[in-house]
Amino acid sequence: MARNETAARSFKDLFDHARKLDGAGYGAYKKLAGAFGDPGLTLSIDRVQADPYASPSKMRLILPMRAAGIPQHLIDDPIGRVAVADFLARRIEADVTRPKNVHIGDIGQQVLERTHVLVTPDRIEARLLVGLPAKGRRILGRQAAHLLADDLPQLADDCLFHDRFDPADARALEDHVALLRDQEFLRAQLAPRKLVAFVGNGAILPRAAGDSDRPLAASQATPFESPESLTHTFNLPSGRTVTGMGIPEGLTVIVGGGYHGKSTLLRALERGIYPHIVSDGREWVISRADVASVRAEDGRPITGADISPFITNLPTGADTRRFSTTNASGSTSQAANVVEAHAAGTSALLIDEDTSATNFMIRDRLMQRLVPNDKEPITPFVQRVRSLYDATSVSTVLIAGGSGAYLRLADTVIAMDAYRPSEVTARAHEIAGDTGDTASTGEPAQNQFQHGTAERVLARGTLNSRKPPKPRGLSTISVDRSDIDLSAVGQLVAPSQTAAIAAALAWLSKNADGQTPLVDLVARLERHITEKGLAVLAPGRDHPGHLSRPRGAEILAAANRYRELKLA
Ligand code: ADP
Ligand code: MG
Repeated sequence: MARNETAARSFKDLFDHARKLDGAGYGAYKKLAGAFGDPGLTLSIDRVQADPYASPSKMRLILPMRAAGIPQHLIDDPIGRVAVADFLARRIEADVTRPKNVHIGDIGQQVLERTHVLVTPDRIEARLLVGLPAKGRRILGRQAAHLLADDLPQLADDCLFHDRFDPADARALEDHVALLRDQEFLRAQLAPRKLVAFVGNGAILPRAAGDSDRPLAASQATPFESPESLTHTFNLPSGRTVTGMGIPEGLTVIVGGGYHGKSTLLRALERGIYPHIVSDGREWVISRADVASVRAEDGRPITGADISPFITNLPTGADTRRFSTTNASGSTSQAANVVEAHAAGTSALLIDEDTSATNFMIRDRLMQRLVPNDKEPITPFVQRVRSLYDATSVSTVLIAGGSGAYLRLADTVIAMDAYRPSEVTARAHEIAGDTGDTASTGEPAQNQFQHGTAERVLARGTLNSRKPPKPRGLSTISVDRSDIDLSAVGQLVAPSQTAAIAAALAWLSKNADGQTPLVDLVARLERHITEKGLAVLAPGRDHPGHLSRPRGAEILAAANRYRELKLA
């Protein structure tokens, strides 16, 4: 049915129809497909599951905006619409009366552009997954009737109609929108202020547990406090002022003893590409949208990457300007991760010593004497980090608790001591100067990073699978029999992003023309999504399922980890 017209059949008709199916074989549920409702609310039953064990049925609750009554000033910009959609999805997720077989998908600590709830100037749609009730393979008609004709309209009443919000909820919605607008405003200020990232005073960076994205209890956490010398203040559109630490462009080295909060800080910067909800603790941790965390990832496949800035003269004689392997080493994998992030257009790399390959990061003087340079294929990152910034304006934020090799090169050195940062740049330069260690002189600034990887072109037909690429949780996408492993792609946060990436791979396959460089193809896809909405990725026309928007960088990361990738 056309989305704006009133459903021809009422909820009463739906109730009676479902009731009559009682005891019939499960397949008879298919007869319920279609639209039901009244002028204020439509339930569109888009896809009915074939049996009780299949993935749940897809349904939408659709409200014309005049009935939903969301104040116009909250939805007159794309950021406002994302915030309102996110708020409504959380409201459904949190609704205690929501039947247990009705779902709106995974929603974590980040505010993401999603397909879970659609907000346009003229309507709201909540996209639900609904398990239709059965006993064995027989329809439970009475239960289905109540679920569809009573509970789902009730869910819309409770969650989606603004004029039924109590004052505290209406206030919370205003705050949710204002927060996102402030966060994105601050993010847009980073580049003009020559900052890579910002961490607000009072931020709670540690998480409750290794497998939790929720904040550590306030009683146990030391709130973040900027050192005086790095303090920045932002006046935001809501009228609020936020003060905290700005990480400048260039090379920033984070030092400090083990267990003093270095990795926790870097992890927060990694996640700072996403806006976080109020009370997350990271609301004011804001990074530039394109920062890329890179790590060693031995075992990953590499296809045609130009890792020559770091690796040359391999004993195999392989051409490292167009390097492929099915099983990368620690150093080659980290080199590939750096050049791929660079090709994807990052303006800052985040690197943690905990997850780096030592021989990729440094090479000390004793080792240079024992193994002469011409026998060593690796030019360590320490010799490239300066030219990376000076020649290509890519900053690096690096944790180096165990090696002083980077100190001399650093523009900024931050010391973490019992979770409190201080700036120690001058002292670090003094000490590094004293040692006379010149092992880490930057190479002459040259355009080492502008080559191959950014120009790679997908071959026609690559990624073309018999079945659509299938997401499995957060970290795996199966393309026919080949699994893409995303567990080292540290800036993915939601399985619904992985689902969107799987759909994006299908789009790439369809649009690979044997001419357009991969990075340009992904840029085109991103424009397409921005123009048409994230649902363009979904095969189902009306109900797109639950997708959250990934960055182009993560789409590229998935393509780059596909073992059968073919380049033109
Ligand atoms: P490092 O990388 O310096 O060795 P981590 O960042 O891994 O240290 O932190 C060590 C431990 O301290 C982790 O369990 C982490 O959750 C906790 N932690 C980090 N920051 C804080 C903080 N601000 N307040 C309380 N605990 C913290
Ligand atoms: Mg650490």
